[in-house]
Amino acid sequence: MVAQPKPLPVREVLCHHCNRPIEVPVGAMSANCRHCNRRVILEDLKIKAYHAVVKLETAGKVEILKKAHVVAELRVNELNVQGKVKGNVTCVGTVKVGKKADVDGDISCRSLIIESGATLDGHILIDPSFTPTAPVQPEDEEDDGLLRR
Ligand SMILES: [Zn+2]
Repeated sequence: MVAQPKPLPVREVLCHHCNRPIEVPVGAMSANCRHCNRRVILEDLKIKAYHAVVKLETAGKVEILKKAHVVAELRVNELNVQGKVKGNVTCVGTVKVGKKADVDGDISCRSLIIESGATLDGHILIDPSFTPTAPVQPEDEEDDGLLRR
């Protein structure tokens, strides 16, 4: 008997372009979305210092360490804030806000853990089936050729 090769371990993430779930190999740094064909970043990020960008997007996990100060719109799969965030957070998994953390922005997520002592200033949306709306996608514009009278 020959042992069956084990299927590669995969995990499910949301494509940060089209918001549809895709399965990716565990440990992969990026993948191509099978729905929208765009490159999906899967990297886990650890932010240790001041970091200002327009958008921080990954289908991985982002950790914002104690001394970090992030000014950005965050769109992530998992988020752990121990430092400061200024910007709206869209997270399709769990957001954890540590006891010294300070979040100035809206948080939309599937679950939220707030430690006593954390500062939050913004609207909170917690919905276990939360799926963000897709950004504008010109290729989604449908041709009415299929409409029948
Ligand atoms: Zn996609």
